[in-house]
Amino acid sequence: MLNSVFEKKYTVHVISHTHWDREWYRTQQQFRMSLVRTVDTVLEYIRDNPGFRCFLLDGQSILIDDYLAVRPEKREEIRNCVAERRLFIGPWYTQPDEFLVSAESLIRNLQLGIRTARSYGRTMRLGWIPDTFGHISQLPQILNEFGIRAAALTRGIGNELPEPRIEFLWRSPDGSEVLVLHQMQGYFSAGLLAFPFFWGDVSNIAPSAKRAAERVSQLLDSLKQAASGPNLVLWNGADHMPPEPGIAETIDELNDISRDYHFVHSDVETLAEAVRASDPELPVVKGELRGSRYHPLLYSILSTRTYLKQRNSRIQRLLERYAEPISALASIVPPQDLSPGAVARYRYPAAELREAWKLLLQNHGHDSIGGCSIDQVHREMITRFDQSEQIASRIAFESLKHLSEVLDTSWAPNDAPMCVCFNPVDRPTRRVVQHEFRLARPLAEPVVALDHDGNAWPAQLLSCEQHSHGWLDRDTTVAGCIGNLPWWQEVLKRMDELDIADFELETSATTDLVLRIYLSDYGGIETGVLGRLAEALQLHDRSARVALRASYVHHKIAFAAPLDAVSYTAYAIVSSREKADPAVVSAMTDTVAVQSRNATHSLLFSGGVIDVEAGGSLRLTTPSGTVYTGLGQIVDQGDGGDTYDFSPVGPERALVLEDEVVVDVLQAGPVKACLEVRYESRLPAWLEAERDRRSLATVNLPVRMQVSVEAGSEVVRIRTAIGNTVSDHRMRAVFPCLPADAPRAPGGSEPTLWVDSPFSIQRRELSPQGVEDWEQKPSSIQPHLSWVGLGDESSAVAVVADGLHEHEIIDTPTGKACALTLLRSVGWLSRGDLSSREGQAGPMIATPEAQCIGDGAFEYAFRVFQSEHELRQNVQSLTDTFVVPLTVATENTPERRAEEARKATTAYDRRQCSYISLHDTGFILTACTKAANAHDLMVVRFFNSRDERVTERLQLAPFITGCNRAHLSEDPIERLRIEEGSVSVTAEPFQIVTLLLRHARR
Ligand SMILES: [Zn+2]
Repeated sequence: MLNSVFEKKYTVHVISHTHWDREWYRTQQQFRMSLVRTVDTVLEYIRDNPGFRCFLLDGQSILIDDYLAVRPEKREEIRNCVAERRLFIGPWYTQPDEFLVSAESLIRNLQLGIRTARSYGRTMRLGWIPDTFGHISQLPQILNEFGIRAAALTRGIGNELPEPRIEFLWRSPDGSEVLVLHQMQGYFSAGLLAFPFFWGDVSNIAPSAKRAAERVSQLLDSLKQAASGPNLVLWNGADHMPPEPGIAETIDELNDISRDYHFVHSDVETLAEAVRASDPELPVVKGELRGSRYHPLLYSILSTRTYLKQRNSRIQRLLERYAEPISALASIVPPQDLSPGAVARYRYPAAELREAWKLLLQNHGHDSIGGCSIDQVHREMITRFDQSEQIASRIAFESLKHLSEVLDTSWAPNDAPMCVCFNPVDRPTRRVVQHEFRLARPLAEPVVALDHDGNAWPAQLLSCEQHSHGWLDRDTTVAGCIGNLPWWQEVLKRMDELDIADFELETSATTDLVLRIYLSDYGGIETGVLGRLAEALQLHDRSARVALRASYVHHKIAFAAPLDAVSYTAYAIVSSREKADPAVVSAMTDTVAVQSRNATHSLLFSGGVIDVEAGGSLRLTTPSGTVYTGLGQIVDQGDGGDTYDFSPVGPERALVLEDEVVVDVLQAGPVKACLEVRYESRLPAWLEAERDRRSLATVNLPVRMQVSVEAGSEVVRIRTAIGNTVSDHRMRAVFPCLPADAPRAPGGSEPTLWVDSPFSIQRRELSPQGVEDWEQKPSSIQPHLSWVGLGDESSAVAVVADGLHEHEIIDTPTGKACALTLLRSVGWLSRGDLSSREGQAGPMIATPEAQCIGDGAFEYAFRVFQSEHELRQNVQSLTDTFVVPLTVATENTPERRAEEARKATTAYDRRQCSYISLHDTGFILTACTKAANAHDLMVVRFFNSRDERVTERLQLAPFITGCNRAHLSEDPIERLRIEEGSVSVTAEPFQIVTLLLRHARR
């Protein structure tokens, strides 16, 4: 050998990999056909070719699940390859978008990915995120917490590094760091080295070492400039590609030819270790990565097919804030709370929850939740959303039903309908509880909600409607009724959770008898009703004809009550103030109301007065007289873009109204007040064929906006329903951040912009920091997880949204405003003629369903603060805007009350339970669930949302007996001492804290 390894200056790690979008321009099953062939080929290479050292299967272990589902006989072979470090899998379960999913979704993705990979041998210890569209600031901390100290990524780099670098340290706001292998030339740059193109079918082409040498020389020339030490890397792979044919031989030939480089078939773990071992001086990059200097960031995937993002947001919340904590609590309520029967009945649904998460995480792939795939892919996502939601909502309902059975309700009035309410919010709060239930007859107003301490909380009947129960309605005979009564009762209970509560038996002119049956959620209140009904029927001839008609009255009520943190408690709904102490009821302040004058309606609430303006926007007058106008104005603009990027066509304009805005009062207080604002707008129907202007043809687009306020809250909630009839456009709701009459000195200070992001509160620049000559020009279209806040020292406005993750700070005649994207309609997966991006981002396939034609409803809210500082101190309340109490009806039978009276005195208060409670120190709860790996432990997780070290005393439920601080991996760090029912936790700025809690055995 002419050139010994030791004389060569650089080691070049050739890393064979594939990036596998599980679904994108083909469906999951279509791509799986080639996945199976690809993995077959990988196993063949590993088996037959010792020189082919290893292969990286895109860092997501679901691919092995997908493969083994059709090749179960390969399980052992996979295990061996993984254990011997020849096939690298994990740590992710899927390759998620980091900005469009919740903090916990990212954790569950890694937990499940690592668990799955380990079940197949071992997990890769590197955060492989080659294609993801930008990166959150907390990813280094998240990876560190799973024992991962390096990552490889392509997109997101902007001006953080003055010079191009292929290695740097990336630091989270808490100080955690990962070594980043920056795929500056792209994760695909050294694909098919010895072939004429980097991606495609090369089965009929012979590899050429000469060609490889030329490619490599070009790549390495610029890599050398960007390297910190003697290790260079060639990313030998591309999307959906098998290993390069003959790559091991090509590497041998390159070593023979090259003077300066020693080529090795390597893996990313070895590469990261080699970089560290060379002890280079690495630049440090802090915070989120959202630049597009070297690679497009594809800014508007944030708003493509918003219907997917909305579904995702709701199901994440359902799993994280309801199904998980309620089912965990149901499985650990202390022993004295449970009758033996109840213990036997409840089994913690660990596998069911995991299944719901798996279905949801499959939708988190960057091309899936990004909305930038073909229509069929997104149709299949809807089914996964449906299934995940069905599991999660059933678990939440059944678990809360179980908790309701172990609560002591003996304090309640004898015949009162009751509900059990679960509050997921992490600190004591005053919230409006909504409860829906069915009664035999209408409840008479006024209504109050009684708690176990005898307090009466004001309640409001939102609706009260009689429904007939079609299944039971029939024409039969007396004998038919008597024989079937027990069966009917069973079916009603099992299928509809309804009981027979009461009946009336009348003689009639047309038939012999009319039997009216009244159904209720609280049938047990009238016990013995079936016996009395049978007796009444037996007074008649057995062959007499009976017309059976069943009905119930559906009630929807709202009441405002103080709720403990992460708690469940019961309320009785009573329809007369005689049963409540009038003094307590009248003590209620901060009610809401509607004031109607000259056919206009205003909402009155603790945040001030809301009026509807002529153009359909809102005006807020605060209690101190400050006026904000134009709030929530809906604007529209043509969009010549694709599923990746918005491309403006024409100016953005407020909707032109066809007629006057109609305002109706839907609810008038005292607990909830709601106005409905309706209008029609006339808009250009589509883009003309040249795509440079909107059509002259117009269509009507109806808008129906429900604006509501609730007792004890300064938040204004908006639900906007739009029947979208327009193609190729974008609709946004605009919120000016300054009062209408604020003095604006030229050159005065700019407002500050805050947004939330997984495990973080980010301060962002108002306009993009990049330069025009970036690979994609920088955009001010930016993500938030649930809210955006904009303000200065004298005022601030926060906009909160449910599953709407895109905003832009824009200039309006009255200053800076936040524009929240509701809807973006585009008809192409990718196009090459955008003004916001050069070239294609994927195949040019028509996606008519990305036009989002049809009905959509968008939920968002706003709240005004006195300053940006006040906003910053209240971010937890913003995060929880759409986290509302959950209720189920609970029975209140004389039997149950007698039973409860017998065991009324126990060491523990069985009338309520608060599991864990935070104060206003800036901690924000993200999880309260069973530990993934030890079901006898609970996990609670929160993060410090403040940019300072914080110590919090967490209040714990009395049956919690042990507390360990742990990593996200659930490996314990240290034991914390519980003193007088609380535990003290200190967290660095933005540090994530995981606690493992142990309970008294039952
Ligand atoms: Zn991808």
